[in-house]
Amino acid sequence: MSMNEILSITVDQIKSVPVVIEQETSVYDAAVTMFLEDVGTLFVVKENFLKGVVSRKDLLKATLSGNSSATMPVSVVMTRLPQIVYCSKNDIFIDAVRKIVEYNIDCLPIVSEEGPDQMRVTGRISKTNISRYILEMGQADMGGL
Ligand code: ADP
Repeated sequence: MSMNEILSITVDQIKSVPVVIEQETSVYDAAVTMFLEDVGTLFVVKENFLKGVVSRKDLLKATLSGNSSATMPVSVVMTRLPQIVYCSKNDIFIDAVRKIVEYNIDCLPIVSEEGPDQMRVTGRISKTNISRYILEMGQADMGGL
């Protein structure tokens, strides 16, 4: 595969399964979900539409604030629309990498847009699967070494 082919693969081809929670979920339960699902970013939805993104540091900040993590909803600490940086399934790999670097974030939701502020999360693309994909391409290029 040429470098151009590698860079123009779509995000759909290397996506992972998104982990989604409801906006009423407590900060405590969100942290538990992060551990159980082994992810660093959760997507927050209302009636299946994307409303926010919660990262490890958002939850850490919330727990350090002194409020009860068992009663505080994640909607208080999430990054919310319209600030969410996202991509669509046909976007190319390098565009997703550019967004992750430019906005200094770990993960992008892959969404299908059904209207203004009506986005369904269909996948996620993270620094981890970007690294894994680059490794696989590098190994294939070296003849599996
Ligand atoms: P962390 O800082 O927890 O390691 P990130 O670097 O991904 O994780 O997140 C930094 C900040 O950016 C957090 O406040 C988080 O809510 C926000 N964030 C994470 N992903 C996105 C995204 N796709 N769009 C907008 N904001 C995001």
